[in-house]
Amino acid sequence: MKRIVYVNGNYLGESEAKISVFDRGFLFADAIYEVTSVLEGKLIDFESHIKRLDRSLEELGLFCPISTDELLLVHRELMQRNQLTEGCVYMQISRGVADRDFAYSLEVEPTLVLFTQAKSLIDSTQAKSGIKVISVEDKRWGRRDIKTVQLLYPSMCKMMAIKAGADDAWLVQDGTVTEGTSNNAYIVKNRKIITRSLGNEILHGITRAAILMYAKSVQMEVEERTFTIDEVISADEAFITSATSFVTPVVEMDGQSLGDGTPGPVAVRLREIYIEESLRRAI
Ligand code: PMP
Repeated sequence: MKRIVYVNGNYLGESEAKISVFDRGFLFADAIYEVTSVLEGKLIDFESHIKRLDRSLEELGLFCPISTDELLLVHRELMQRNQLTEGCVYMQISRGVADRDFAYSLEVEPTLVLFTQAKSLIDSTQAKSGIKVISVEDKRWGRRDIKTVQLLYPSMCKMMAIKAGADDAWLVQDGTVTEGTSNNAYIVKNRKIITRSLGNEILHGITRAAILMYAKSVQMEVEERTFTIDEVISADEAFITSATSFVTPVVEMDGQSLGDGTPGPVAVRLREIYIEESLRRAI
């Protein structure tokens, strides 16, 4: 694989691209990121990802070294140089390089890195079969609304799921589901879509916002509230959303089949609408 990646203004072969060992992203997870999906060589929900990036920057007192227009150009240049037609563009901004110290100087220059990942998103085996999830206690920090690169606990939960023969984990705090390791979580009961409301406990998913808007536009009922694992098990269906998985049905929780154990009609329909609308709006 010979990808071209972007590091602080330069386009480099992936093996030539290097970051300092003193980068605070590496030493303190002092960094934020966004992942924008690409279909037919175009970016999906780009403006919303930039808006959330700006919010994460603001919350941590970080700044982006280039403008939004330049960020769009870098995304497009990378897609072109890597001939990416389907997959995603990963973008990360860290506070930058400074001698290791918990306190940091406000003068540090941020590090900006972008790379592409080619991946089949529309034609997905998980979307066809649905995924199996397990429930795991949510032990992440309290500001999950900021999209930081502190992803160790979700990564451990994903590995717990794989070890248990499942695909992913849904995280549970004080008896209710927060979200998936890298996606937002939903159940469907009597055709009503139920998902946790926004707060510091979950990432404000870009796909979540789009899906809820599309659902309402086709008169599907949506309720934003907490729900328990018992409600998941007795739900008619369940699904997840994220930039790279779109809408993916969940067919099993903690070894118990949901509904009839196959992808439910609401998830299947929402996935179709999401792909159709995303292709229409892609830039
Ligand atoms: N929650 C978490 C914890 C995530 O990591 C992600 C994906 N990055 C999401 C939700 C989904 O967000 P989005 O739809 O913006 O990809």
